Amino acid sequence: MNTIRDNAIIGSGPAGLTAAIYLSRAMIDSIIFMGPSIGGQLVTSPLIENYPGFKSISGCDLMFNIIEQVQSNNIELIYESVTNIVVNNNNTFTLEYSNNNQLVTKTILIATGASHNKLNIPGEEKLAGKGVSWCATCDGPLYRNKKVAVIGGGNTAVIEALFLSNIANEVLLIHRRDKLRADLSDIAKLNNKNNIKLIYNSAITNIYGDTKVEAIDLLNLLDNSVENIQLDAVFVAIGTNPSSSLVKNILDLDKFGYIVTDSNTKTSHNGIFAAGDVVSGSLKQAIYAAGQGALAAVNIQKYLGKR
Ligand SMILES: Cc1cc2nc3c(=O)[nH]c(=O)nc-3n(C[C@H](O)[C@H](O)[C@H](O)COP(=O)(O)OP(=O)(O)OC[C@H]3O[C@@H](n4cnc5c(N)ncnc54)[C@H](O)[C@@H]3O)c2cc1C
Repeated sequence: MNTIRDNAIIGSGPAGLTAAIYLSRAMIDSIIFMGPSIGGQLVTSPLIENYPGFKSISGCDLMFNIIEQVQSNNIELIYESVTNIVVNNNNTFTLEYSNNNQLVTKTILIATGASHNKLNIPGEEKLAGKGVSWCATCDGPLYRNKKVAVIGGGNTAVIEALFLSNIANEVLLIHRRDKLRADLSDIAKLNNKNNIKLIYNSAITNIYGDTKVEAIDLLNLLDNSVENIQLDAVFVAIGTNPSSSLVKNILDLDKFGYIVTDSNTKTSHNGIFAAGDVVSGSLKQAIYAAGQGALAAVNIQKYLGKR
């Protein structure tokens, strides 16, 4: 017979790891599944400059500092991915993970994050973190008075272009189609910016540079001509995918697949909490994910009657 744990955390990004610190310090019998990407998205970022306490630190160093902090507390770390969640009829859940292993728990924190869609073009992977970025809030300030491109035509692309226009000299907003799919109020703001240039019916096909982004090839989809443009950074804003497939038949999700929670990280199912980038409306920033992880930990304690 399985022992019933108080809590299981799924995910080892800032949200899951912060919850682990809080729950273990509160003496809750918790366990954390580290998943396919130990430390989460941030480990791919060479430089974090907006996490309090560090003027600048590599994403890898930041996350491994946090993992060390978790390890120094009394919590079990499992370097596996959860493959299935079964809702039992006694207010518990069974988590299935590698090699048919199972674990029964009274509460779950879903902290599985999200991933950014990639362009899948030459140069993108090589120059990731060296001018190719998926986050203007994070990396935009590195391109003060430079020339940058934003790729995409939805809300995120427009908001990132507006944000970057306050920092960079020139912003190219490059979209495959002939019109943007963003809020009209934001599109209107673009018209008031004289350093944003809209380029429609065009696709980026190559990113050049050795140690940093230097130029791109831009394909005109109407006449197939290619223009080589010199610039300093490429911000990719062509959508994100929440890692919510584990709970898609259990929890309420928004139309993009993000988990809907109340302001206390509670999901639509009693006993299941969610924090970080996988949550609908998340700021998609490490500090926000960590904050939600802390809030979820406190609410899990309350749910268990241990606070
Ligand atoms: C290149 C890049 C640069 C960034 N730079 C910054 C920055 O400078 N500042 C900033 O604040 N933010 C930055 N961000 C955003 C930041 O990384 C995210 O907001 C943050 O990591 C979200 O944390 P999270 O814990 O919600 O999820 P994630 O970091 O996405 O972690 C999700 C975790 O869930 C695990 N997981 C997924 N599925 C399973 C499963 N089935 N079983 C077990 N575990 C699972 C994964 O292994 C991973 O550990 C950046 C993001 C990227 C991609």
